[in-house]
Amino acid sequence: MQLTDLNWPAVQALSKDTPIVFPVAALEQHGHQLPLFTDSILLGEIVRRASHRLDDRVVFAPLMWLGNSDHHLDFPGTLSAPPRAYIDLSAGLAENFIQHGFRRIVFVNGHGGNDVPGKQALFEVRQRHRQRSDLLLLFATYWHLASPSMDPGRELHQDQMGHACEWETSMMLRIAPQLVGEVKKLTPVESSTGFEPASRAWITKDRTEPGHIGHPHLATAEKGEALLRVFADGVVALLERVIAWDGKSWGA
Ligand SMILES: [Zn+2]
Repeated sequence: MQLTDLNWPAVQALSKDTPIVFPVAALEQHGHQLPLFTDSILLGEIVRRASHRLDDRVVFAPLMWLGNSDHHLDFPGTLSAPPRAYIDLSAGLAENFIQHGFRRIVFVNGHGGNDVPGKQALFEVRQRHRQRSDLLLLFATYWHLASPSMDPGRELHQDQMGHACEWETSMMLRIAPQLVGEVKKLTPVESSTGFEPASRAWITKDRTEPGHIGHPHLATAEKGEALLRVFADGVVALLERVIAWDGKSWGA
């Protein structure tokens, strides 16, 4: 179900165990070859595929395109909710549906910069409802829900998501090729942040001059279709677990 298509009595009549999904993405630079709306376009497609398969068992809120992208602000066009604003925005969305009586709230994320503040938001919501034992608050980034590089025959070079990389560029070639610029002449940018396993604070221009991180010159629409399929499967699998949850145990 799409939240945008329901009226309020229809929402009121739903089982309060119905999972509520908030897709969250971004509008930020994606190198020379991809549009600013890449993360939102890609997550929108993955959620569209997943929602068809889940039909009326899950409510999908409209995609939140404003993400936390402060680290990309050196690149023109990027829009960002600063981290504290992003935490409050995300927590507020979850609180709205807790107030409406729902118990299973899932953020499905399509942008790396939302990861830390999105998880912080749900951490804070959980602290505010300490007396409850029936809440399921989840935050999941779509490319962590599946391992496309494990699948034989995909011919992927990258074994993890980069930025405006082989994976994202391939998916954009599959669904919006008219928005993709020249890729063959782009040179690879390796993804190390240095000092691993420590986490080094960074802004994007520390790591890349053109804006991409990874190997976009290897992108093809065929790889893109395979990736979209695997990632939609991953989202469906997670939401099936949320539906199957017994409402009280720690895991499912
Ligand atoms: Zn992206």
